Parts: sequence; structure tokens; C-alpha cells
Amino acid sequence: MATIFTKIANGEIPSYKVAENDEFYAFLDINPLTKGHTLVIPKHVEDDYIFHLDEETYMGLCAFARKVAQAVGKAIPCKRVGVAVLGMEVPHTHIHLVPLQTEGDLDFRKPKLELSQEEFVAIAASIRAAFEQN
Ligand code: 5GP
Repeated sequence: MATIFTKIANGEIPSYKVAENDEFYAFLDINPLTKGHTLVIPKHVEDDYIFHLDEETYMGLCAFARKVAQAVGKAIPCKRVGVAVLGMEVPHTHIHLVPLQTEGDLDFRKPKLELSQEEFVAIAASIRAAFEQN
């Protein structure tokens, strides 16, 4: 059975898309730690542990995440874009990209932001625009 993230990449479940190519898909985390918190996934490989990916998919995912992170950093005022891989909840490899002001912003135990649909739409549009400029 397809994972929830495969359904998102296929458009069967809605998401706030920020970037896409044939192999990879990036979208806003629905429970963000900070504004611009983005998830990057491989579309065709669901393996739930990043270090079990074949090397080509792993390297491609990292390269795509790097480009997305550059766009996140341009679109969202922050000191750094933090990177995390947890996979404790969704069994489909994904990289978290989190705009940071302090290291505490990457604490996944913190309460998540509650954003309106309009805010999600605006954030995704600004990251998408920065991605497309690159
Ligand atoms: P992890 O598996 O890395 O521990 O956590 C999964 C992440 O995916 C969480 O940050 C959670 O908010 C996010 N997430 C779970 N379900 C959905 C969903 O349906 N849509 C989006 N956009 N994010 C999700």
C-alpha cells in the first residue's frame, strides 16, 4: 500500500508544493517547527530509512534537498536552514529542512506552529518562486 507521502507526491492527497522534478518532491510540513519547514522525498522509493536507499537515490535526494534549502533560505528570513532526518512517524524517507534563528528551533519536542491556509499558500509560493529563479 502506498504511503501518505507517495499519495502526496502523486497529487492524491493535497500538499503545499515548493519544488518537484521527475524523481523528488518537496512540500511544506503540515505541523511546522518554523515558517518554511519543508519535507523533501523521493517519489518512487518509499524505503523508510534514508541509509537503506540505493546510492543513486540517496545522492539525488541530497542534491535536490540542497537546491530546495537554498530556495528556503532565500525566501524565509533565517540564519541557517537546518537539516534533520527522523522518520519516526512516516515510513517514507524524507529530509526536514527547517529555517532556524536559534538551535532550539530544531527541537522536535516543541509545540508546532499553527498556520492558516493563506499563510501556507504564501510561504509555499515564495519558496517556489525562489526555487524557480535558481
Ligand atoms: P518523522 O517521520 O520525520 O518523525 O515526522 C513526519 C513529519 O511529517 C512530521 O513533521 C509531520 O508533521 C509531517 N507530516 C505527517 N503527515 C503529513 C501530511 O499528511 N502532510 C504534510 N504536509 N506533512 C505531514
